[in-house]
Amino acid sequence: MSLRLLIRSRVFLPLDDLGLSAGHLEAIHGMVRTVEGLVAISGPTGSGKTTLAYSMLESLASVERNMVSIEDPVEVAVPFMRQLSADEKHGLSIAAGLRAILRMDPDVVYVGEVRDAETAKVAMQAANSGRYVLSTLHARSVASTVAGLLSMGLAPHTLAANLTGVVNVRLVRRLCTACRRPEPPSEAFLQLCDEAGVPRPAELFRPEGCPACRRTGYRGRIGLYEVAGITTALADAIVERLDERAFEAVLRNAGVRPLRSDAVEKIAAGLVDEREASGVHWLA
Ligand SMILES: [Zn+2]
Repeated sequence: MSLRLLIRSRVFLPLDDLGLSAGHLEAIHGMVRTVEGLVAISGPTGSGKTTLAYSMLESLASVERNMVSIEDPVEVAVPFMRQLSADEKHGLSIAAGLRAILRMDPDVVYVGEVRDAETAKVAMQAANSGRYVLSTLHARSVASTVAGLLSMGLAPHTLAANLTGVVNVRLVRRLCTACRRPEPPSEAFLQLCDEAGVPRPAELFRPEGCPACRRTGYRGRIGLYEVAGITTALADAIVERLDERAFEAVLRNAGVRPLRSDAVEKIAAGLVDEREASGVHWLA
């Protein structure tokens, strides 16, 4: 028997409490206000994709909006959305569940998560028919999320026309501010700051441990993000089917900062320590 405990208050974080920078928060509010197309939230397992998705969905909740989800499985019951659990053993795949919930004529659909070509296709059809689709995906960056969607057989022009935004996320432990210990930054870190366009900090912090953080040195968690609202330039790059590396270059030209820059910024601000960030999956 296995028991998984999820603390409701940790799932229901307002968007403002997820550690998003002002620019990222504005971009995500923009995606929420759009209420059309597909928004893909990606990252490895346990990276905070679901938390971010629920926070975005909750900000969309209203009595006029019919919101439904297909999840594998439903981890937390939420009051603002009808939720359906996929059950592969009994023939209810995510794709089949998604088709079923689309018959409920929803305004907003949450798919957790898109793993196969069939689900991607149905999700795209839903977005193409005027529904707002939020979905999670397993991918290491914004560029690899787009590449992943294309490799699932979506037509580039359809994806370009219907993709509203992509958010890539990781969760790291947040330093306890009551006991964090200052230390001089290394020359290597200062160079990372220069590369990321982050002002060089006078000091960095490392975890220490105190009664407030139960001697762990950390209190709570914070997200690291790469956030891309799809602009004309990015849509063109999708239509051209640029490879992942070329697409990265287009993202940087469009001012989309890589996850690594967000990490450097949060280390320089004393929110995260270098060692914790260096352990992040796929950060390089
Ligand atoms: Zn502490």
